[in-house]
Amino acid sequence: MSVQSENEQIKFPELPLITEDILSKAQASAACQTAEYTLAERKALLDKITKLLKQQDAVLVAHYYTSDDLQQLAEESGGYVADSLEMARFGHDHPASTLIVAGVRFMGETAKILNPEKRVLMPDIEATCSLDLECPADLFTDFCDAHPEYTSVVYANTSAAVKARADWVVTSGIALPIIKHLAERNEKVLWAPDRHLGSYVQRETGVDMLIWPGSCVIHEQFKADGIRNLKKEYPNAQVLVHPESPAEVVDLADVVGSTTGLIKASLNPEVNEFIVATEAGIFYKMKQASPGKIFLEAPSGGLGGTCESCLRCPWMAMNGLRNLAEVLETGANEITIEEDIRLKALVPIRRMLDFAREQQIAVKDKGNA
Ligand code: SF4
Repeated sequence: MSVQSENEQIKFPELPLITEDILSKAQASAACQTAEYTLAERKALLDKITKLLKQQDAVLVAHYYTSDDLQQLAEESGGYVADSLEMARFGHDHPASTLIVAGVRFMGETAKILNPEKRVLMPDIEATCSLDLECPADLFTDFCDAHPEYTSVVYANTSAAVKARADWVVTSGIALPIIKHLAERNEKVLWAPDRHLGSYVQRETGVDMLIWPGSCVIHEQFKADGIRNLKKEYPNAQVLVHPESPAEVVDLADVVGSTTGLIKASLNPEVNEFIVATEAGIFYKMKQASPGKIFLEAPSGGLGGTCESCLRCPWMAMNGLRNLAEVLETGANEITIEEDIRLKALVPIRRMLDFAREQQIAVKDKGNA
């Protein structure tokens, strides 16, 4: 399929850099949360949180990339573990008046956009995402204004203000059908912010797209050579890849999918070994569902001692039992969104949900990061 794009002619704004300093700060905050607990400390924290959740009429919703402790606690306390959209939808359907969102900031914002009547708290409100950081609302707005002939489609990993300026919001699972739908209407697409997911969608659809040059600091680290080498050791292993990974890694995949899509693929009864290219938090769910199987981290090109080498998102790791207990006690870290921004951001999210309903596409099975 031939792909026509004006990317080469069009100059994108200079994006904020994700510096070592930014990553180190996130890692330092994360280290406070991941520091070892004694068994007694862990039990005391879990007891305290469980009691406070009840007292505060709160429910814990955690992303697949958070720690095993948080995922287990969410499940055992009547909460939920999911991708960001499902986190927000679960929160909407649950009767609790307070949602505790263990994840990164755009997830808390999505929960608030869809559930304005509820209080949304986060263990650490500074937990963010490189895709969100690399797509500031002012740069995005100026770029959209300069290219009004394009329909703007943004990935869920963006701020409420960016969503408010977009025509569509998509998750990785519904991106392809929506872009195909826009192509049928002869629309050209301005895609932001993940360049790898954007390129994947462009390769699959052939649509004329302007692709914002952002990326995920974790998925960008996966290396095709490393996967090929590992595959020699485990020739029967299936390669599961999240589409935020580079094209040469996606090309090696047996299954390309979102977090939920990859977990589903790992249930395949015919396959017992998997090489997995996504954030390592996903192994909790995969191993829980298939305890006898072998799950291997896809090799990354991370620098020794940095977050990239351990495939843990430094911002996701800022969520822990300690700050969760603190937030429940103090009511700190509440997500607030100006009402006009919230209402504008709701429009492209609703458009995606309506499209999914009309097309009977299970967004639920194919969420985003
Ligand atoms: S893993 Fe990547 S996409 Fe997900 S929150 Fe972290 S930086 Fe963002």
